[in-house]
Amino acid sequence: MSKSLQAIRGMNDILPEQTPLWRYFESTVARLCDNYGYKQIRTPIVEFTELFKRSIGEVTDIVEKEMYTFEDRNGDSLTLRPEGTAACVRAVLEHGITGGGQTQKMWYIGPMYRHERPQKGRYRQFHQIGCEVFNLDGPDIDAELIVLTWRLWGQLGIRDAVKLELNSLGTSDSRGRYREALVEYLSAHLDKLDEDSQRRLKTNPLRVLDTKNADTQAVLVDAPKMADYLDDESRVHFDGLKARLDAAGIPYVINPKLVRGLDYYSKTVFEWVTDKLGAQGTVCAGGRYDGLVEQMGGKPTPGVGFAMGIERLILLLETLEQVPEEISRQVDVYLCAFGEAAELAALALSEKVRDQLPNLRLQINAGAGSFKSQFKKADKSGALYALILGDDELGQQVIGFKPLRGQGEQQNIAFDALAAHLATCVVQG
Ligand code: ATP
Ligand code: MG
Repeated sequence: MSKSLQAIRGMNDILPEQTPLWRYFESTVARLCDNYGYKQIRTPIVEFTELFKRSIGEVTDIVEKEMYTFEDRNGDSLTLRPEGTAACVRAVLEHGITGGGQTQKMWYIGPMYRHERPQKGRYRQFHQIGCEVFNLDGPDIDAELIVLTWRLWGQLGIRDAVKLELNSLGTSDSRGRYREALVEYLSAHLDKLDEDSQRRLKTNPLRVLDTKNADTQAVLVDAPKMADYLDDESRVHFDGLKARLDAAGIPYVINPKLVRGLDYYSKTVFEWVTDKLGAQGTVCAGGRYDGLVEQMGGKPTPGVGFAMGIERLILLLETLEQVPEEISRQVDVYLCAFGEAAELAALALSEKVRDQLPNLRLQINAGAGSFKSQFKKADKSGALYALILGDDELGQQVIGFKPLRGQGEQQNIAFDALAAHLATCVVQG
């Protein structure tokens, strides 16, 4: 027997049964982004590898070991995007839409690719929704991004399950001074650090703060604190952000060890974390990247953004049983027709009804079948009403209308009164 074909490990199908929840989630976020004045941007899934090396940084986990990189037929090195910010920066530069200092507020959605060890909440193809803002350097916009996500958690019913962690990384100058102090301290305790941290000490020392290793964590207790190295400008910025979060009533905790996996952040960094999903607890992460556009060849252009992991948020909705019941009901009315003549009439009638009620979710029985089997399918479809058309009804130019969920009696409705009748009993989305 030949081996059956399978999807790639860590890359999942999202089956018809699951997509209503995905679409509910996605449309909730999309509406919110629109309402806060963000416009969607769509960039290619594949980019030149160089883009990610230059933006994310050569010595990050992503670039060192997680990218899906290949040569195309021209010998160009291409990479499946591991995240969304790099392409946004490339696009604004390429099209010059921030070059004159214009503000751009944008959002994106789509699949991302990282060669990680697949487990619950961690996949090789996963999906993110993110926002990016260019050319605003104040804490007001950092706060807006956080307020937007806070409102989202409220709309989704998961506010109680997530916690905001906040830190400021300072400007690249102050971070540089802190990095030196940290390296000096850690080098004096080199033998007590785990292997990974010893390596990171040379390549990306701030990432040591992020370690899960208990011995290294013990060493870090007395390490220099980032907050003591913050420059005045960053401190004022951070205070401004905190004041706005306080004003909006959003609780947060300062996590001085929050450094984030990507190289390009400065000043604000934040994560929304939950303890309901096990080890993969960060559902949304972001921060400010004021140096990135310049680093990629543009004029100095402040930027700030976040990305949320859709799979983790879907898991959280399921775990907390915050899946609205109505989203899986996709049929309002199920039409059963018996015999060839009734089927033809049913098709013509339902097209007329659709003309008048474009949002009506009307499913016509396909594949014929007995009264009993069609009724069973009508019930299973989740429809609120069944329409019944047989030879008798056809002769009188009426159709049977039967409530499937409530009490109401079955009644006959004249063909030309059907749309008006349905309009009164089906809520139009
Ligand atoms: P982690 O520490 O969990 O690896 P990260 O810092 O690499 O996360 P980001 O690059 O900031 O993650 O991506 C933003 C969000 O995207 C994460 O908070 C998470 O919700 C989601 N995410 C990142 N990597 C994956 C993955 N491999 N599978 C599923 N979701 C992911
Ligand atoms: Mg990661």
